[in-house]
Amino acid sequence: MPDQKNEEFSDGNAAAGDGKGCIYCGEAAVSDEHIFGKWLNKKRPAKNRTSTKLIVINTGIHSIIQPRMPSTKNGGIFTTKSRRVCISCNGGWLSKIQSATKPAVEKLISDEVVELSPEELVALRAWAVNASLLLDLSDARTSATLKSDFAHFYLHQTPPIRWRIWVGRYKGKEWVGGKSRHVGGAAKLITEPDHSTYNFQLSIWNVDPVFFLVVSAHDDRYLPNFSRFEKFLKPIWPEQRAKFVWPTTFIAGDSEMEEMTRFML
Ligand SMILES: [Zn+2]
Repeated sequence: MPDQKNEEFSDGNAAAGDGKGCIYCGEAAVSDEHIFGKWLNKKRPAKNRTSTKLIVINTGIHSIIQPRMPSTKNGGIFTTKSRRVCISCNGGWLSKIQSATKPAVEKLISDEVVELSPEELVALRAWAVNASLLLDLSDARTSATLKSDFAHFYLHQTPPIRWRIWVGRYKGKEWVGGKSRHVGGAAKLITEPDHSTYNFQLSIWNVDPVFFLVVSAHDDRYLPNFSRFEKFLKPIWPEQRAKFVWPTTFIAGDSEMEEMTRFML
């Protein structure tokens, strides 16, 4: 089990720190950690990752969204590495999560009717949270994850309570193989004074033909609302009572993948 070395983290956006050392345990020497897992980097024509900044103002009736220019990094997402994790986290508890997730992802992408066990769901959630945290950190301009969320995940290896994680099916042209997009945004309610804190983030990526969507916010009021995409999204966090039976009926295409990154609050 991880120790509690990083308990002294005061809250605030994680990328606002000094950017040195392991983001989980604080260890100085970092190694290269594959964001999604090395095991995925096989025969998969993965595409690049893009990060976008959004300013969202919720007027109570509708949201005013001011997107900034997206930035795209070259290189397939399954070879993308983060240098914010130490050798012992990488080779220890994170490596266990990676190996526990592999069978679950393989089931999902198999195109067969399958059921995921509670243990497989636990692994899948942890994998999705780690990937989302590292994606969020990979571009300081769009980073919106709280230090306390890293601390929570390090201690419990479960998603923080305010997080939402879904799985869905994808079929289209733009995301063939694998692609990821990260959106960091500053949401503001019309009743609030101006502030420019980046307070919600969205990470979406696919391991063809399955996509994963992870969102988190500093406060529930800033959580993006995905109700209009409900038929494409199967929740895995918060925990659901029903058994996880796969696949879902509806399949998202390129336009839904695009729209999900331009949600309304
Ligand atoms: Zn570490």
